[in-house]
Amino acid sequence: MPTNKANPYIYFGMTVSICPTCHVTIPGALTERDGKIYMSKSCATHGRFRSIVASDAEWYHAAQKQTSPSLMMKWQTKTEKGCPQDCGACPEHEQNNSVPVIEITNICNLDCPICFADNHHDYVMSDEEMEKCLDILDESGTDVDILVLTGGEPTAHPRLIELIKLCYKRKRIPRVAIATNGILLAKREKLVQELAEVGAYVLFQLDSTDPAKNTVLRGKEMTNYREQALANLEKYNVHTSILMTVIGGLNDDEIGALLEFTLSKKFLRGFEVQTMAYTGTGGRQMKFDPMTRITGTDLIRNIETQTNGLVKMSDFIPMPHPHPNCVAITYVMTMVDGTHMPFLRFTEPAVYRSAIMNQFVAHPDDRHEAVLHQMIDYVYANKDHVEKAQVVLDTLKMLLGELYPPGGETTRAQRISIVERYVKNVFLHNYMDDHSFDAAVLRKCTSMQIIPDGRMIPNCGYRVIHRKTDPRWQKHKKFNPGHGVDGLRRQLVVLD
Ligand code: SF4
Ligand code: SF4
Ligand SMILES: [Zn+2]
Repeated sequence: MPTNKANPYIYFGMTVSICPTCHVTIPGALTERDGKIYMSKSCATHGRFRSIVASDAEWYHAAQKQTSPSLMMKWQTKTEKGCPQDCGACPEHEQNNSVPVIEITNICNLDCPICFADNHHDYVMSDEEMEKCLDILDESGTDVDILVLTGGEPTAHPRLIELIKLCYKRKRIPRVAIATNGILLAKREKLVQELAEVGAYVLFQLDSTDPAKNTVLRGKEMTNYREQALANLEKYNVHTSILMTVIGGLNDDEIGALLEFTLSKKFLRGFEVQTMAYTGTGGRQMKFDPMTRITGTDLIRNIETQTNGLVKMSDFIPMPHPHPNCVAITYVMTMVDGTHMPFLRFTEPAVYRSAIMNQFVAHPDDRHEAVLHQMIDYVYANKDHVEKAQVVLDTLKMLLGELYPPGGETTRAQRISIVERYVKNVFLHNYMDDHSFDAAVLRKCTSMQIIPDGRMIPNCGYRVIHRKTDPRWQKHKKFNPGHGVDGLRRQLVVLD
C-alpha cells in the first residue's frame, strides 16, 4: 500500500509571475521550506521553475503586514491584457512614481558583465525628449522624492548639466540624482564642480574594494578611478550615496565595510545595497542558481554580522511606500560625539514609520518637529534602556534647535542640508528578475522608468519584460551579445 509523503514545500499563497524563458504570464505559487520562501511556476512550453524569494521566512511574513495606502496618480495606459503586461502605468497600478528614472543615454565607458541595461552606444536624449518625459511626469500628478538619471553612463551625455537644469525647472522635482560608475568624475574635475553647482545628487557605484572581484563585476579594475572620483566629490561636497550591487559568494562579505566607510565620510549621505538582478545584456547571461541566489533578507543579516551589531536586523523596516518585499530601510543618526545610532533604537516603531513615510531621502517638513519632540520624550521616559541616552538626547535637541529655531524660520533647502549632517539612510533594494518576478510586488512599484513615448513603466518590469517595447531601442534588431557569449568585448566608445 503506497504511503503518502509530506511535501517539504508548504504552500501559502498564489501570485502572478512570468516564464523566465518566454515571458508569458503564468501563476507563481509561494511556498515555505526550512524557514525560506520560494516561488514555483510552470510554463506549458518551457517546463517547471523554482527559485528562492527570501532567505528569512519570519521577516518575509512580518513584512507582508506592513503595507501602506496607495497614493494615486493619473495613469498612462489602459488595462487590457492584465498585469504585468499593461505597463504603464495602468489603472491597476497601486502607487505613484516617487523615484522616477530616465535613461538619458545608452553610451557607456564600461561593459560590465553584470549590466542590466542593453547599451548599443548610439543614443543621447535630446532636450525635447527630456521635456516630454518631464511633461509625462507633471501630467501624472505624482509626488516626486528624487528623480534619477541613468544610462548607459549618464556622465557620457554631452549635455548632462543642461538636462539636470531642465529637471530642476519643474516644481515637482526636489532632487535630481545621477547613477554613475564614476570614471568621468575622476577624469573631469570640472564636471564634478558643475554637478555641485547645479545641486545634483550622485549615486556612486562601488561594489567592492578588491580589484579581482571588481573585475568580475565590472570587467575592469577601477581602484584609481574611484579614489580620484571620491576625492573630487568630497572636495566639492557633492551629495553622494554609495551604490553597491551584491552577488552571493562574491562580494557579500564587504557590505559591512562599505557601510562603515559611508558612515565615516561626511560628504557620503547614504548607502544603497541591491541584490544582483539577472536581467539585461550582462545579467541575463551570467550563470547562477535561482535556488541559492542572494536575497534581500541575506543583505540585512550580513549587515548585522559584518558591523558587529552597529546596525542590526531589528533596525530595519520594510520601506512603507512600495511593496514590503522591495526595500528595507534604516536611518542612522550621526551623534554629537561622532558615533552613530539607528533611529529605531530610540523611537517607537509607529512614530518611525510615519516619520519616514514615502521618503527615500530624509527631508523634514513641519510634522517632523512634533516627531523630534516625541523622540526626546521617549528617551527621557526610557533613559535606563536607551543606549548612550544622554548623547542621543543632546543630539536630538541640537537637531531640533537647528531645524526649527525658536522665533526663526528655515527654508526647505536649509532643512535638507541640516538633516543631511545628522542622518544617513541605508537601503536594501531587492530588485526582481525573470526568476523572482512577482506582479503583486510590481504593481506597488514606486520607481518607474519614464519613456518618451508617454509611458511610465515600473523599473523591474521595464528591465525584465518591457525594455524591448521601448521605441528608442527598436532599431536594435540584432541581439546584443555583450559579455560571456563569445568571449569578445564590444568595441567601447572611448571617452576622455
Ligand atoms: S505593474 Fe502596474 S502598471 Fe504594470 S501592468 Fe501591473 S498594475 Fe499595471
Ligand atoms: S524597482 Fe522593483 S524592487 Fe524597486 S520598488 Fe519597483 S518593483 Fe520594487
Ligand atoms: Zn515559457
